[in-house]
Amino acid sequence: MMARVHLSKAVATEVEEEYVLDALRSGWVAPLGPHVDAFEREIAERIGVGHALALSSGTAALHLGLLGLGARPGTVVVVPSMTFAASAMAVVYTGATPVFVDAREDGNVDASLMLEAVDTLRAEGADVVAAMSVDLFGRAADYDELVPGLAERGIPLVEDAAEALGAAYHGSAAGSFGAVSVLSFNGNKILTTSGGGMLLSDDRAAIDRARYLSTQARLPVAHYEHVDVGYNYRLSNILAALGRAQLTRLDAMIARRRQIRETYVSALAEIPGVRVIGRPTEGRDDREDNCWLTCIDIDPDATGVTPEKVIAELDLHDIEARRLWKPMHLQPVFASERAFVTGTSGRLFDDGVTLPSGSSLTDEEIERVVSVVTGVLGGR
Ligand SMILES: *Cc1c(COP(=O)(O)O)cnc(C)c1O
Repeated sequence: MMARVHLSKAVATEVEEEYVLDALRSGWVAPLGPHVDAFEREIAERIGVGHALALSSGTAALHLGLLGLGARPGTVVVVPSMTFAASAMAVVYTGATPVFVDAREDGNVDASLMLEAVDTLRAEGADVVAAMSVDLFGRAADYDELVPGLAERGIPLVEDAAEALGAAYHGSAAGSFGAVSVLSFNGNKILTTSGGGMLLSDDRAAIDRARYLSTQARLPVAHYEHVDVGYNYRLSNILAALGRAQLTRLDAMIARRRQIRETYVSALAEIPGVRVIGRPTEGRDDREDNCWLTCIDIDPDATGVTPEKVIAELDLHDIEARRLWKPMHLQPVFASERAFVTGTSGRLFDDGVTLPSGSSLTDEEIERVVSVVTGVLGGR
């Protein structure tokens, strides 16, 4: 029997075993330890930022990052609508109000609409404390437009690079664009610690403050003294060891995902009404993407096929596929929030399918996926 083909399955090799065993045998089982410090240094170096803080999740990193920028009740944070819900949930944790902005054809936020949203909200008297970008599916947002546009307006950027470790934009690493930036090491991400995240910044004071809040805001005195409300958000030494092991394999994992992307691109090139999202049609190629997930956009009129049909057909062949992220402005939990909508993210949600993209997939497994997808879409 053939094994189920998963979307993005985490795999641990002997390298991971070695690092985790070292953490266990070193006696540093208690939360913090040398692997945490080393993991922070190695990630900061890789991204090219001054400081990094290892945390229990990407969501925790977003929460602390937003708090540091002054998000609180009565303030507004502008957020891409097309993202995983955690981006918006973290805004709500601070008491601030999220306002959503629609996407471009590659799924990333419409940068000019985001700037327009900031101007409109401000003209109405809103206290906009930050804008968030999301590097969707491992592809950096349009920073040429976003970074100067926000700087001109004095609005700090929070870069949610949870999906984008290893990606870049015009030579700079994803995770280096925000006043604070965030990575996730959740189980389905390109590098995993099973659960974890990182807050990144060039601002030492911002990272120091977040570090303090992440350990229950304990003051550095002999007894337990607290003047602020803190959180229990730190990453454990054992999980940091797992992350360091994965980091030694990151480039190989990205290279494999890129190969898988290329296979899909050439296999689907001849099918009318199907495009791989994030290709040169959007004016930029995907050479700097980390290829975390490869998504296709299916024109139902040209193909006569819905994403549901493609997903159901793949499932019959024991292959996992998913719809894209459902936009936040269409989520019941955020139904009452303000949104700047063009309809693009809704259309991408209606017509998009995420294909198996994990670096451990074999050529035979990818061939199985291609054969089902081309079959159902009429290419073969
Ligand atoms: C995964 C993800 C997060 C949350 O990260 P966790 O580590 O799961 O908390 C946030 N934003 C985006 C875009 C994500 O994909």
